[in-house]
Amino acid sequence: MSIFDTSIATVCLSGDLSEKLAAIEAAGFTGIEIFEQDFIGFDMNPAQTKHMIADHGLEVMLFQPFRDFEGLPKGVLRERAFSRAKYKFETMNQLGCERILICSSVHPEALGGIDRCADDFAELGEIAQTFGVKVGYEALAWGRFIFDHRDAWEIVRRANHPNIGLILDSYHTLVRGIDTESIRSIPGDKIFFVQLADAPDINMDYLYLSRHFRNMPGEGDLDIQRFMQAVAATGYDGPISLEIFNDQFRRSDTLMVAKDGHRSLVNLVDQIAESIPESGQPALRLPPAISPQGTSYIECAIMPEKRDYYASFLAAIGFQHMGSHKSKQVDRFEQAGLNILLNYDKRYIGAGQLHETGLVVSELALEVDDADRALARAKGLGAEVLDSYTQNDEAEFPAISGVNDSIIRFIDAKTGWIDDFILPDGHSHLSVTPLLAGIDHIAQTMRYDQMLSWTLFYTSVFNLQKSPIVDVVDPDGIIKSQVLSDGQGRLRFTLNGSDASNTRASQFLNDSPGANVQHIAFSVDDMFEIARNIEQAGLPILSQTDNYYDDIQAKFGLEAPFCQSLKQHHILYDEDEYGQFLHLYCHLQDTGLFFEFVQRKAGYTGFGAANAPYRLSAQRRIGQ
Ligand code: MG
Ligand code: MG
Repeated sequence: MSIFDTSIATVCLSGDLSEKLAAIEAAGFTGIEIFEQDFIGFDMNPAQTKHMIADHGLEVMLFQPFRDFEGLPKGVLRERAFSRAKYKFETMNQLGCERILICSSVHPEALGGIDRCADDFAELGEIAQTFGVKVGYEALAWGRFIFDHRDAWEIVRRANHPNIGLILDSYHTLVRGIDTESIRSIPGDKIFFVQLADAPDINMDYLYLSRHFRNMPGEGDLDIQRFMQAVAATGYDGPISLEIFNDQFRRSDTLMVAKDGHRSLVNLVDQIAESIPESGQPALRLPPAISPQGTSYIECAIMPEKRDYYASFLAAIGFQHMGSHKSKQVDRFEQAGLNILLNYDKRYIGAGQLHETGLVVSELALEVDDADRALARAKGLGAEVLDSYTQNDEAEFPAISGVNDSIIRFIDAKTGWIDDFILPDGHSHLSVTPLLAGIDHIAQTMRYDQMLSWTLFYTSVFNLQKSPIVDVVDPDGIIKSQVLSDGQGRLRFTLNGSDASNTRASQFLNDSPGANVQHIAFSVDDMFEIARNIEQAGLPILSQTDNYYDDIQAKFGLEAPFCQSLKQHHILYDEDEYGQFLHLYCHLQDTGLFFEFVQRKAGYTGFGAANAPYRLSAQRRIGQ
């Protein structure tokens, strides 16, 4: 065993034991922590269960939980605790499991005292030895007397028995703000098991937060990396295991949660690889997180009869038709290095649904240093690799499955994808003055339970940082919104998640195949110029109320003529401590997707979140 071996507690997932095992195997774990309830509630004896687990190629790495063992007064209670332990050890022998977790006592009759507890464990160690069982002791953050791993370690140290060791759980240590550096002085061979869980930074009772809101390493706000660096420094050579209680995960797709869990552990080990002595083996390292230089193209799927309508929209915002694909019904439009592809090929996977949904974003192609290395990282983190369906002389470039049915492609300098597009006669180069400067951000919408999953995907595969989740008020519910950014403006996503069935986000979601891109935001250097172009082309702009403009004039102390021209062109306005933000939304026929145009002034860092409720209300007014 080593820190590269991964395990997951069966309690993390939904389904019965056999469904859980199938998902855990498919996700790539080495083993499981068997949660007693999962075993007791499953209709198979221990020997049969052992075989079923082995059939999935998995090992039972830990049996848990065993509660309220130590510190009981001499007499019936204490005797019963020991006989309970013996019964568990017998079951473990039948299950083929060597390690058990005992968590610190919350028993009302328990007495404190490090030495009393150490004596209990020394005595239990003798019994455990006869069963070949190793007992790990864990300090619960809400333990009655023992709630700090340093005290648990002191008990284990004084028990001084080869079958008694310590179990560390990142949640219990980090949620109490206990310094993780204290782990470094514990001998690695006395750490019997390491459990990992993250959690959001919410001020809440430790027990309630733990039982309902734990999440995968990297999904929350705890410093798991620092915790793991300290663990690695001890020379600990056992597996790392997820123990996540989360209401959302327990009702989510079992395989999705199992895969997310595995991805989170692979990513964590990759992040701390420098601290692991044996990580010198290059085979164990992933290529570095992908830092795209930008977006090579965004492909939109449309119905063939809508081709001219969307082509004229693209022309109105400064794009020029720059060729049609050799073998597919796909047209390329370009301006200033920005490419939009319109795909009206009937073979497109979502073509059948486009009647109802209108335009959807089907592919996102990202410009990277080395497409093969990018693919290797994505693959190493469990991303699904797609076939490229190219014909003989066409550019082949790697693709992975993105949000929902969408595709993410990696393009590097040697990918000649543009050569697959045949230029129309007489248009061999760009002749139109560009109106757009680039892509500012891409907004994707998903169910709230998928939002953590996609946040983890983007932040592990790519070099993207997440910002805190904010609540946006939709007229029909709450939408949670999170920004993922590379910090350099080359790649930014805003993810919006909702469970309320009537919110704009949910309605959009129910309707849509593809990448669930809800809007593409282009950056511009002159908002009034693009607004005039859109108006002249007769394209519909999402308008705001008079109340809105009265409010921002007062809120930001805007000059009346400036505010009047914002209103005239339906431009929304925001400020942060750095600068100003002007943006407007254009909505097109038959599609739930918006095009947003944004102008950032003087280093404004936000995304106009303050205006999101008014955008959503405006959408409701026009019935979208
Ligand atoms: Mg634990
Ligand atoms: Mg936006």
